[in-house]
Amino acid sequence: MLYRSNQWRQSLKQFPNRVNDIMSGNGETIFNLILSGEIPSHKIYEDDSVFAFLDINPISRGHTLVIPKENSPTMDSLSEDAASSLGQVLPKICKAIMKITGAKDYNIIQNNGENAGQTVPHLHFHIIPKYPNSTHSFVWRPKPIDHSDAGELSKAILEELELARP
Ligand code: 5GP
Repeated sequence: MLYRSNQWRQSLKQFPNRVNDIMSGNGETIFNLILSGEIPSHKIYEDDSVFAFLDINPISRGHTLVIPKENSPTMDSLSEDAASSLGQVLPKICKAIMKITGAKDYNIIQNNGENAGQTVPHLHFHIIPKYPNSTHSFVWRPKPIDHSDAGELSKAILEELELARP
């Protein structure tokens, strides 16, 4: 992860006048430079609110990043309009990537926050094709649910969402 995060910091060296903005945490990230065209990218899709391009360090061929044009670091701060636009185009982007790469399977990964592996604080979905000979994996070790905690947890989240309902 450190390697990946250092790598994009290296590429920022070409844009000394934007580095302060980008590093100051004011919402600017390297993806803004990609959106503005200041950093070139291999674009695969664009509309008024969504942009998609190939990852510079692909885990597999066709590894794509799909981002909202809205500046939102994580999913929980994304506006409903931007979320709706993203949700609407994700299926067709996946379909096109699978058709063109020939991959039958894929993972969609979406990291929120540094501790969760996010290195660029502009919300993005990774679409990662998985080929029969792909060696990458996303392994986690599940444990059986604690039903007593789960009962309280689900009730609390349900209530929070009921309160947040417009
Ligand atoms: P994260 O670790 O935040 O979930 O993913 C960030 C992704 O952005 C990484 O996979 C990284 O390779 C990609 N990335 C970082 N900088 C650039 C860049 O300048 N161009 C492109 N195309 N991808 C980038």
